[in-house]
Order: sequence, then C-alpha cells, then structure tokens
Amino acid sequence: MKTTTRVCVIGGGVVGCSVLYHLTKLGWSDVMLLERSELTSGSTWHAAGGFHTMNSDTNMAALQGYTIGLYKELEEITGMSCGLHHVGGITLAETPERFDMLKAERAKHRYMGLDTAILTPAEIADMAELVNLDGIIGGLYDPLDGHLDPSGTTHAYARAAKLAGAEIELHCKVEDLQPRPDGSWDVITNKGTIHAEHVVNAAGLWAREVGAMAGVYLPLLPMAHQYLVTDDLPEIMNRETEFPHVLDCAGESYFRQEGRGLCIGFYEQPCEPWALSGTPWEFGHELLPDNLEKVSDSIEMAYHRFPVLERAGVKRVIHGPFTFAPDGNPLVGPVPGLRNYWSACAVMAGFSQGGGVGLTLAQWMIEGEPERDVTGLDVARYGKWITPGYTVPKVIEFYQKRFSVSYPNEERPAARPHRTTAMYDIFNEMGAVWGHQFGLEVPNYFAQGDEPTFETPSFTRSNAFEATGREVRAVRESVGINEIQNFGKFRVTGPKARDWLDRIMAGRIPKEGKLTLTPMLSPKGRIIGDFTISCMGPESYALTASYGAQSMHLRWFEQHGEDGVTIENVSDRLTGFQLAGPRSRDVLQACTPSNVAALPFLGVAQMVVGQIACTVQRVSYTGDLGYEIYCDHMDQRALWHTLWTAGQAHNITPFGMRAMMSLRLDRFFGSWLREFSPDYTPAETGLDRFISFKKNSDFIGRAHAESERATPPNRQLVAFLVDADNADVHGYEPVWINGEVVGFCTSGGYSHHARQSVALALIPRDYAQDSQEAEIEILSQMRPARLTTTPLFDPEGTALRA
Ligand SMILES: Cc1cc2nc3c(=O)[nH]c(=O)nc-3n(C[C@H](O)[C@H](O)[C@H](O)COP(=O)(O)OP(=O)(O)OC[C@H]3O[C@@H](n4cnc5c(N)ncnc54)[C@H](O)[C@@H]3O)c2cc1C
Repeated sequence: MKTTTRVCVIGGGVVGCSVLYHLTKLGWSDVMLLERSELTSGSTWHAAGGFHTMNSDTNMAALQGYTIGLYKELEEITGMSCGLHHVGGITLAETPERFDMLKAERAKHRYMGLDTAILTPAEIADMAELVNLDGIIGGLYDPLDGHLDPSGTTHAYARAAKLAGAEIELHCKVEDLQPRPDGSWDVITNKGTIHAEHVVNAAGLWAREVGAMAGVYLPLLPMAHQYLVTDDLPEIMNRETEFPHVLDCAGESYFRQEGRGLCIGFYEQPCEPWALSGTPWEFGHELLPDNLEKVSDSIEMAYHRFPVLERAGVKRVIHGPFTFAPDGNPLVGPVPGLRNYWSACAVMAGFSQGGGVGLTLAQWMIEGEPERDVTGLDVARYGKWITPGYTVPKVIEFYQKRFSVSYPNEERPAARPHRTTAMYDIFNEMGAVWGHQFGLEVPNYFAQGDEPTFETPSFTRSNAFEATGREVRAVRESVGINEIQNFGKFRVTGPKARDWLDRIMAGRIPKEGKLTLTPMLSPKGRIIGDFTISCMGPESYALTASYGAQSMHLRWFEQHGEDGVTIENVSDRLTGFQLAGPRSRDVLQACTPSNVAALPFLGVAQMVVGQIACTVQRVSYTGDLGYEIYCDHMDQRALWHTLWTAGQAHNITPFGMRAMMSLRLDRFFGSWLREFSPDYTPAETGLDRFISFKKNSDFIGRAHAESERATPPNRQLVAFLVDADNADVHGYEPVWINGEVVGFCTSGGYSHHARQSVALALIPRDYAQDSQEAEIEILSQMRPARLTTTPLFDPEGTALRA
C-alpha cells in the first residue's frame, strides 16, 4: 500500500468507485481508494439497480442522464458487463395534478434533448399489459429507464480507475483523519497512515462517522428500504420483450422485471429511519430482518395495480438501509470550514446519480469548478444551523413524499419553524403565511380578512393570488414594508479590503457613501454571485447577496482570503426592513432627524431611526422608490414599532416574498438561481452591464468576460408577455419560435401591477428583438407570447430615482 497520495477516497461503494474513476478520467492518476471490507459493502450490494433520468431539479436530471450514458463507456473500457437492461419506464398519473407534473417534466425534456413521451391509457396498455389502468389518466414514458447489476457496475468503475493508474486497498478501514497545517491530511487506517493532499468522504452508510473524524456533521440519515422479488410468472415468461419499469406513485411503488418474475419496491408511509445514533462499524454484508407488516398497505395497492401479483409467490425479500439528505439530493463538494476535505455522500440513487456525482466532484477538485450549477447538491446548501434534530424529521418527510407530486409553490412542514427572527410572533398575529429558506422562516404573504391562511400547492395560480395582488398594489400605490433578514450579509474590512474586492468582484467597488451592484464570477466567467456592495468607510464594506448561498459564498471568500482583509458572515446579526413605494420616503422621514431626501439613489447613510442606529440604503428590488434599513438583530422589534407606527398615516402594508417576486417582474429584474446562476454568464443575462472593464484589476473571470465582450454569446435573456390562462411560467418551460424549441424560461409569474403574465427566458440572440412572437409551452398548452423590452413599471426609472 502506498503511503502518500494526491487523493484518498474513503469508501468503495458505487459512489466512491465513480469518484475514483472520474479523477483518473480527468487526469489525476496518483489517487487511491480505501475500503474497510470488500467493494460494495454498504448499501450498494443490495440495491435494486434501477436507473432513470426524471428529477424535478433540472440539473440533477442532467447528471442522471450523464450517469446512464456512462455505462456503455465503462463496459467498453473494461470489457466487463454492467448487466444493463434498457427497458424503458412509465410513470403513471392518476390525478390531473400528477399529470400536470408529468407534462411539465416532458416540456423540460424537450430542450434537454430527452426523448420522453406523454402516453394515453391505451398506449400504456399496449406497452405494459399487466397494469390495471383503473383510475389512470395517462403517463410519461422514458426510453432511457432501466436497471443494471449493482455489483458488476461498481466493479467496472473500479477496474476502469485501476486501468488508469488508481490504487484500491481493500480491508483497509479509515479510523481517524488528522489535518496538517498545509491543508493536507493524515489518513489513519488499520494498515498504517497515508498522507493525502485531499480526502473524499464517500463512506455511504458511514459518512456521518467519517465526517465526525474531521469534526463536521454531515446532514444525512439512513432509511430502511424494502423490495420483493416474485417467483417466475407465466405472464412474464411468455413475453417476447422485457417488461418496462412502471412507477405507480399513488401506490408508493416501483415495479420491474427481475429474471422471469417481478421486482416491487416501496416508499411506504410508516417508514423507518435506521441507525439514528450512528451506523455500527460491524454492520457488514447483511440485510435487515424482513418487515412485510410495514409495507402491507403498499402491497395491497400493488395488488390492485398489478393483479398478477396476487398469484405470485415471493422468492426473496431485500430489506436494507441507504442514506438521504433532508432534501433527498446528494451532499457533494468542498466541506465548508475544512481544507481539502470533500464530500460525495447521501447519494440515495447511486445508479442514477453516481456517475454525475463522480464527474462533478472530479471537475471541482481538478478544474476548480463543476461544469454546471450544482447548488442543488452542494454540501454548503446547509449552514451551521443544521442538526440531527432537523435532519431526521426532514428525511422522514422526504421519504414519505418521495413519490408525491412536487409543486413549485409547495412549503413542506417538517422540522419547522427551525429558525425565526424576533418578528415571528408579531408577523403571526398579522396573518403571516410562511415559507422557508436556508432554515429560516420567511413570510410568503400576510392573510387578511378571509384570505387563505394556507397556500394550496398548485401548478396553476394558487389561492394566494388575490392576497399577493393586494400587497403588490399597496406597494405601488402607497408603501409596503417587508423584513430583510433573508439576505446573505458580509462585512469586509481591513487595509486590503478594497483591493481584495476589486479582485473577487467583477464590478466597480463604490466610493464611501455609495453602493454598487456587481456579479461575482468563477474563473470560467460564470455567475457565482450577484452582490450589492456598500462602502461604509475607507476600509469597511457591507455585502449582500442570496441568503441561501451564504455558506457557498463564505467558502469561496475563505478560499480566496488574503492578509489585510477580514471577512465576516453577519447574515444573522444584521437584519431590518425594506420600505418600498411612493410614500416610503415620507414614512422614513417621519422616523428620523436625518434628511432622507438628501440620500440619492444608490446612496448609503447612517441614520438613527426612532431610537435605533441604522444603515439606510436607497435601493429596492421592487423597482420602486425604496429603502433598505439595516439594524442589529437585537434592535429589530424597536425599529419595527417605529416604522409601523409612522406608516399608519400612509396605510402601510406588510408584504411577503410572493409579492416581491411579482414586483421584480415589472422591471424584469433577474433573481438568484433563476436568471443568475453558475449555468449562465453575465453577457447572456445582462449582468455584463455591471462589469467594470475599466478597472485596473485582473478580477476573477476577467478573461472570459472580455472574450464574451468581443464575441457575444449565442443566447440572451429576454422578457415575454404571455397570453396565459390560469397558469404562469415557473421555470424551464420551452420557448418555441417557428415550430421549433429555441430556448427555455428561467422564471416567470404574474405581474399584479400590470395584470400580465410574464416570462423571462434565454433564447438565441438573433430572435431577441422587440415584439418577436413566440409560444411558451405551459402544462402542455402552447401559449402565445410577445417579446418586450419595455418594463411594465416605471420604464424611465423615474420612480426609482425620484
Ligand atoms: C433496498 C435498496 C434498494 C435500492 N435500490 C436502488 C435502485 O434501484 N437504484 C439506485 O440507484 N439506488 C438504489 N438504492 C440506493 C443505493 O444502494 C445507494 O444510492 C448507493 O448504494 C450509495 O452508494 P455509496 O457508495 O454512496 O454508499 P455505500 O454503498 O454505503 O458505500 C460506502 C462504502 O464505504 C465503506 N466505508 C465506510 N466507512 C469506511 C471507512 N472508515 N474506511 C474504509 N471504508 C469505509 C463501506 O464499507 C462501503 O463499502 C437502493 C438501496 C437499498 C437499501
């Protein structure tokens, strides 16, 4: 066994082997994998081996597509068989809501280049005659769905990695991890110590334990999962082709052919977390005792959907644990707060996602960034607030809802409220209907009178439509107030602060008393942040960006830290309110002796508001006259009472995120992870207007930004007015021009101010002309749309600058 290596991958399940293979594929051969037993000794050996592309997160769907395409490559490289059965799969829809979800998926697949199809019940009967179609209104067919041999596939990854120079050490248990001052690691095993530049935690069922060796809590939990294999069935034996996969979400079950019988697996409601306090090290190649009682309701539903099962004997029951993160997505990437410690765990669908996870991690380690937006699987999407107390109920909720319809406006309740501000009870009394973001409760809207106190999850306009409209009108006509806790906030200070910001941010760094907007770019010129920077003093700057991205941003800042600069995450220490609307200045002026009118657009000033020392910024994401008023979190209630009391003269109205997202559409403002994400560049999305090409700094991403300036990219972000019915764009709907899919929507919604459905979309630059006609496919309906370059509110920007 070698004692020094560039990368030490811990864990020889399908994920660890995929990471190892991808490291070699991208050019690192001095890499090794340590496995405490034999390969596949965690969840991998007992998996059902099914794979599919469908995922409501489009980037995850793309990674799943990559994984499935990889198996042929592995077979070719190694000469080994992955035991592939590309039999295709059908997801059944038993309600209009599920059918809407499948149609929305199909629409996304169009521009992703996936050849899926919506099926009628008769077409389902032709393909899968054993399905009882009682109550089924349609389905989605994916020809890429299939299954494989889990062990053969894991060994093929391992062989391919070894052929490219990787080393694999079996029966080598990692017992401890010790960091060295240079960021490398001593990996202490039962066979001796290995010095590794990087370590990768791919320890699957034991990932929590391997996290704890480095002092971190990784939020994942194993759940016990069960599937059955039947005896041979004549109905299967007599078929000429293999039976397709069938997903009966309403019945919480998946079905496929296994040998000459069927295999049925369940996501049952009375589900069981496993090894809550840690996975025992002695757990080996073993299964959990059968528990058919737990799945008895699901079995009954399976009998109904597949009557043939009633005659089938059970040949085998497989009951084993595998891990989930609170939102069901993997935990991938550099672990915040540690150097050279990488996570590749919580992969709940190793045979759909393992390849993509391996590729993502290898790109991140070797090239410095993954090729697409991987926020949905970034381990930094959870903050320091994450605890087992949050993870356990969230994972149970995810498991139980694994096959539920997921709606764009859905707010799932488990483990909430987790984090609240001092306003929580005041807002509750005012009718707040809550959403949540990065563990924090954030008002979506405030229900007044008989407005609904629960927003119904829906693909069409929800029952919060009227309340949202009322809040929007209050802002546009007088003044609205909302809480600004949910911004990521950083304080950057020190003699080198300005130089550092000039290097990290692409935009202009403001003078004292001013603020600027700027993209933050990756080395490849993609958008990794969308920041507001305020200069508070000669060596002091305040930064705001997305609340949910704060751990990712801090990790980036720390990776690029230098002497003479101090960076603090003050997201939860600073809070405050936004006043927006034509009367916002009057309200603020009534609360402070400072001259509010003297504060220019994009100005920043210190003011005492009521009795509270505040920082006031003249900017508003509503596109209206507005102020962001920041205070210490201990002062928030006093500030609220001052503003609220003064606002009564102008009928001040609290507003939530639903209204905010409608208001920003009036001016076609983009938002984080919708228009502005690592999938896009500034020139594609219009953020290039905030890049300072004049500044004398080689800011990160400059070379790419310059080359886009010289040769503009093919696609461009535009706004469409949509002739919608009762459903608006949410994101990823295809845009058709001249009968062809030419682009897709990044987001959209309803402008209550203009009473108009709006879509923001990326389309080829050639079509980006005012009045260009198009069609946008919303829930399988082609809706006419017209491109516009004129904002729906304050096109000249006079209100904003008033
Ligand atoms: C019943 C069941 C059915 C399933 N069906 C499917 C399916 O149809 N399709 C699908 O995609 N997925 C399925 N899964 C999920 C799938 O099994 C997992 O997604 C996958 O196995 C995760 O692989 P992994 O490599 O992350 O973890 P694991 O398989 O748990 O591998 C981790 C490895 O790390 C090793 N290790 C841990 N700690 C150390 C240490 N300290 N030192 C050295 N080595 C260590 C372990 O021995 C183990 O081999 C199923 C799971 C179950 C339980």
